[in-house]
Amino acid sequence: MPWYRKLHWQIILGLILGVIYGTLAAARGWGAFTNDWITPFGTVFMNGLRLIAVPLVLGSLITGVASLSDLKKLSRIGGKTIGIYIGTTVVAVTLGLVIVNVLRPGDRVPDGMRQELAAMFLAQVSDPEAAAPAANEPGPQQLMVDSAQVSDREAAAATAKERGPLQLMVDIVPTNIFQSISDNRNMLQVVFLAMLMGIGLIQIPPDKAKPLLGMFDGLTQVIIRLVDLIMKIAPIGVFSLIASTITSVAGDDPNQIVQLLGALAFYMIAVIMGLLLQTLVVYPILLKLMSPMPWKTFFKGIAPAQLVAFTTSSSGATLPVTMEQVEEKLGVSEEVSSFVLPLGATINMDGTALYQAVAAVFIAQTLGMSLGIGAQLTIVLTAVLASIGTAAVPGAGIIMLVIILEAIGVPTAGIALILGVDRILDMMRTVTNVTGDAAVATVVAASENALSIPDLGETANRIRT
Ligand code: ASP
Repeated sequence: MPWYRKLHWQIILGLILGVIYGTLAAARGWGAFTNDWITPFGTVFMNGLRLIAVPLVLGSLITGVASLSDLKKLSRIGGKTIGIYIGTTVVAVTLGLVIVNVLRPGDRVPDGMRQELAAMFLAQVSDPEAAAPAANEPGPQQLMVDSAQVSDREAAAATAKERGPLQLMVDIVPTNIFQSISDNRNMLQVVFLAMLMGIGLIQIPPDKAKPLLGMFDGLTQVIIRLVDLIMKIAPIGVFSLIASTITSVAGDDPNQIVQLLGALAFYMIAVIMGLLLQTLVVYPILLKLMSPMPWKTFFKGIAPAQLVAFTTSSSGATLPVTMEQVEEKLGVSEEVSSFVLPLGATINMDGTALYQAVAAVFIAQTLGMSLGIGAQLTIVLTAVLASIGTAAVPGAGIIMLVIILEAIGVPTAGIALILGVDRILDMMRTVTNVTGDAAVATVVAASENALSIPDLGETANRIRT
C-alpha cells in the first residue's frame, strides 16, 4: 500500500491542513463560515467515537473480567494495573511540581497582564456564593462535563468544591443500571458495573453464564468493527476539529490570543515540558524496565491513537482507537487490553494530573502566594485523586482543578488566569493520558506473558519474554 493511503498519514495530513486552514480562517474572520460548514464534520466524527465508548467499555470489560476465569487472577491483574497506574500518576505529578518550582512561570507574568487576564476570564469561573449548589446537586460524575456542553461552568466548579473526601467512592456505585449507562459522563460507574457483572459471571456455572457472555462478546466484536468504519472519516474529522478549535480559541480578535500566549508562555512551557518528559522519557523507561517492547514499535503503534487524542481532547472518545492499536500493533492480548484500557481511560490520567499540579502552583505564584512542602504534598495527593475522578472528556481537568486549589487554600477564581489557553494544553495532556494507558497495558501484558509483539516475530517474542 502506498504511504499516502495509510490511515495515520492521512490523519497527519488532515491535521496539517486543519492548522493551515484554521489559522487562515482566524486571520480572515471566517469564524462563522467555519462554524456552519466545517465544524459539523468534526462533531460527527467525535460523536461517532463517543457513541461507541459506553458499549465498548461495558462489553469489553465484562468479557475481559469474565475471561480471567478466577478471582485470584482478576485480583492479581487488577492489583498490578491499579498499582502501576497510581505509580505513574505520582511520578507525573512530582515531575510537574519540580518543573513549576524550578521555572517559576508565575513570577514571569507581567503585572498589568495579570489583572487583565483575571478580568477577562473571571466571569467564566466559579463564584461560590452565586452558584451555591443545592443539597441534591449531582455528584462529581455529573459534573465531569464536556466543556463543549458546559453552559454552567460555575455551578460545576462550585459543586466540585462541595464534595467530601469520600464522595468519589460513593459516586462510583450507581443506583440504577440504565441511568449509569445512559450518560457518557458516568464512565466510572460503567466500569464499576462491568467489573461487578464480570465477577458475577465467573461465579455462576459456565452453562448459565454462556448466553450473557456470548452477547457481550458479540457486542464487543461489533463495536470493534465500527471503530474501523468511523476511523475512515478520521482525516476529515481531524481537519475539521483542529480548524474549529483554532477559530474558536482565536475568537473575534486573533491578536488577543497572541497576547495571551505571550503572557502565559512560561506556564505553557512548564506544562508542555512536563508532558514531553512523561511521554518521551518516563514511559519508555517503564517499557524498558518492565517489558520487551522496543520504544520505536510502541510509538509507531500508538501514533494513530495519539493523533485522535490530540484532536478530540478526549481519552474516552479515543478509547476505541487505543484498544485497536494496542491489540493489533503492540500485540497486547485482548484479555489484558480489554481490562486495562477501559479502566485506564477512566482512572489513569497522568497528563491531567501533571497539568493540574503545574496549574495550581502557577496560580499560587501569580497571586503572590508561596506554597510550603505541606501544600506541595497535598497537591500530590489531591492531584492523583482528582485525576482519577476527572472524566475522559474535553476540559474536565480544569474543573477538577478546583478541588486542588481548595485543598491548598488558593482562591479558585485564579482559574481565570489560565482558562484562555486551556484547550491547547487539554489536547496535549490527553495525548499523555492515552500514551500512559497504552504503556501500562503493555507492561501488564508482558508480566502476564500475554504480549506478542508483531514486529518481532514469534521466536524473538519467546526469547525476549
Ligand atoms: N481531556 C482529558 C482527557 O479526556 C481530560 C482533561 O481535561 O484533562 O483525557
